[in-house]
Amino acid sequence: MSADKDINLVVGAGFSGATLANLLANAGEKVLVIDKKDHIAGNCYDYRDENGIMIHKYGSHIFHTNSEKVWNFLKQFTDLNTYMHKVVGYLDGIETHIPFNFNTLYDVFPHSFAKRLEEKLLDVFEINTKVPILEFQKQDDDDLKFLANYVYEKIFLHYTTKQWGVSPQDVDGAVTARVPVYLSKDNRYFQDKYQGIPLEGYTKVIKKMLDHPNIKVELKTNFHDLVNVDLRFKKIFYTGPIDEYYNYKFGQLPYRSVNFKFETHNKEYYQSNACVNYPCNYDFTRIHEYKYYLDDKSDKTVIAKEYSEFFELGKNERYYPIPKEENDALYRKYLEESKKDANVHFFGRLGDYKYYNMDGAIERAIELFEEVCK
Ligand code: FAD
Ligand code: UDP
Repeated sequence: MSADKDINLVVGAGFSGATLANLLANAGEKVLVIDKKDHIAGNCYDYRDENGIMIHKYGSHIFHTNSEKVWNFLKQFTDLNTYMHKVVGYLDGIETHIPFNFNTLYDVFPHSFAKRLEEKLLDVFEINTKVPILEFQKQDDDDLKFLANYVYEKIFLHYTTKQWGVSPQDVDGAVTARVPVYLSKDNRYFQDKYQGIPLEGYTKVIKKMLDHPNIKVELKTNFHDLVNVDLRFKKIFYTGPIDEYYNYKFGQLPYRSVNFKFETHNKEYYQSNACVNYPCNYDFTRIHEYKYYLDDKSDKTVIAKEYSEFFELGKNERYYPIPKEENDALYRKYLEESKKDANVHFFGRLGDYKYYNMDGAIERAIELFEEVCK
């Protein structure tokens, strides 16, 4: 595809970039998608290894959404299994359910005490409500105070310190609210209407999204190495880091990074569940066992231990924007700067500096397309 002013440039071939490229292409626009990595799919990249196990290179990805629009968009490119994610974790050496729910309560405490707590909880809260831990700590009753401190200490304090480098009070409340105390017997991690794993993996989904006569994809191509960008492209849609685009003129937006240590074991299964959290023990936060997601059959199994670390430019990758007022203020400076150029649109987890799940990234790309093409 020769470069001319009829072509739109999409930077980044993750879910955000691929969604937008697909919509533009279907609307008759020509699109060049570039990615600096040697593969498409961004952080959702997966592949089958030599044992036939689908590996999620950048950590387990479970699709879940309440948005019919997003679900229908995704379903054009794949069927999904009916996998509903559950997480277990070790509290006091007992393998039990996370988020903390009534089943967890009965697993970790003697029956009579658990019953008393359950009754008291149901006096205060409606059944099936979700209570963020920082809210849950505001209890008057001594038993419930004890329970709140137990949940805070055993599930949130050490895990959050490992994951974010600070205690739960010092991360945005929305982060820990992703895993609330759930006054329910529902052991699932997500209650969304639609959940599952694409039957042939995420990379194939994104490949299909990009497989269009109006789309050309160039990998191992860094935006910053392109020349005459303004002259060459109709519009630029940018899912890379917004601070990097502006050469960090207002300062660097902080991120957390993750280091996955992979191990192959000569046994059918390593652990009882796809994801086991270690809120109190070890330096890693959780262990993923990949064969569970698509029920892959092999006499071997592959796991990854997840270690969180600070993002450092040139050393590791950006994984998690850090929701925090001062970071948001810095992001807004870049956002203001971006408004000076009507030809460049930022979106995606790095472009918007937002902790999007996959459905949020797709939804945002659909909205951007509707806004730009209205
Ligand atoms: P990305 O996937 O990061 O894609 C951005 C792309 O831009 C990258 O491929 C990058 O190489 C490219 N790029 C950046 N700069 C440049 C440049 N200068 N030139 C060229 N290319 C560039 N969501 C869920 O819904 N469920 C989950 O279970 C889930 N688990 C997760 C687990 C982890 C550990 C992480 C980190 C995220 C998880 N997510 C999950 C979130 C999910 O990964 C994101 O919502 C999704 O990947 C966002 O897609 P994106 O396209 O915005 O960003
Ligand atoms: N969290 C925790 N203990 C757990 C699970 C989660 O403290 O066992 C907190 C932690 O701060 C984490 C946040 O809840 O970063 C959100 O967890 P989630 O599993 O949604 O994070 P992600 O899958 O995005 O890494």
